[in-house]
Amino acid sequence: MIEALIRKNIKALSPYSSARDEFTKVADMYLDANENPYQNNLNRYPDPYQKKVKTLLSEWKGIDTSKMLLGNGSDEVLDLIFRAFCEPKEDNVILLPPTYGMYNVLANINDVEAIEIGLSDTFEPKVDAILEAQNENSKVLFICSPNNPTANVFNISKVEKLLSNFNGIVVIDEAYIDFADTASWIERLDEFPNLIVTQTFSKALGHAAIRLGIAYASEEIVNVLNKIKPPYNVNELSQQKAIEVLTEAKFIKQIDEIKLERKKLESALAELKYIKKIYRSDANFILIKVDDANKRYNQLLEKEIVVRNRSKQYKCDNTLRISIGTPAENNKLLVEMIKL
Ligand SMILES: *Cc1c(COP(=O)(O)O)cnc(C)c1O
Repeated sequence: MIEALIRKNIKALSPYSSARDEFTKVADMYLDANENPYQNNLNRYPDPYQKKVKTLLSEWKGIDTSKMLLGNGSDEVLDLIFRAFCEPKEDNVILLPPTYGMYNVLANINDVEAIEIGLSDTFEPKVDAILEAQNENSKVLFICSPNNPTANVFNISKVEKLLSNFNGIVVIDEAYIDFADTASWIERLDEFPNLIVTQTFSKALGHAAIRLGIAYASEEIVNVLNKIKPPYNVNELSQQKAIEVLTEAKFIKQIDEIKLERKKLESALAELKYIKKIYRSDANFILIKVDDANKRYNQLLEKEIVVRNRSKQYKCDNTLRISIGTPAENNKLLVEMIKL
């Protein structure tokens, strides 16, 4: 079934074979990659398949390393998905606004039509409308859960129904999953051969700067993506740092603290009259509806506090998206917001 979804030129492609691809054993001397031979910790090309990072991820997540692909941020992983499955000017993808802006940007870059089926008033996918909108050229459905900017995890049975009935690839972007109390969809990869789950080092793992994104999928899908990724797409410094991060496990404590701070912020903000609604959050940010988003945004800016005004997004008029900061930052935010 996946076979039929792959673009013809990608199916026919013989991938670039790097020196580190062709010789993977241990040798005395490496004179095969035209590197500078003098050691400085970075003179050699990095492992193209990031085996050490994947092994640590595998121990943490319980997924076999053959079902992972790492990229230069989720951005690269998502772009690889477009390039593997979507024929420019012919195929389409389905997006569920309000959602993460990159899917639409990547669709435009790849000259692929984006069919938009807005979320319901409770910010859940409209399953029937999505399934009705798909046609033979619908290759990928992007589901962001927990969703950015609405912060909620989508209803499990709705997502199940989409996974079972959508004829193309279903991407579930779980950038924020470590802040949610629900299980990750990676646990159900074997049940759904068309599923790709993406995660990232940028949020809960606290390393947006190293640009490391992960795709979890069937070996078949991972093999296709591996074929088209730039050979050394994750640099050595990022790989070393990722190994450090996964070994330290310091971030686990930070996730708990952020969730606790989210709860405190939610209950304190509930007291403020100009806040009309606080949406349920399963992420490290909260979306609030206020009386006048532009006014409140500017008032906070005067206090040197930047939040994100999401008012232009579908069904998001007069909303602000606020990331959970450190306890000190959240206290200062509250002090200022109470004064408005
Ligand atoms: C922040 C975010 C990401 C992370 O992207 P990276 O390129 O890995 O930094 C992915 N998806 C969503 C929905 C996000 O909000």
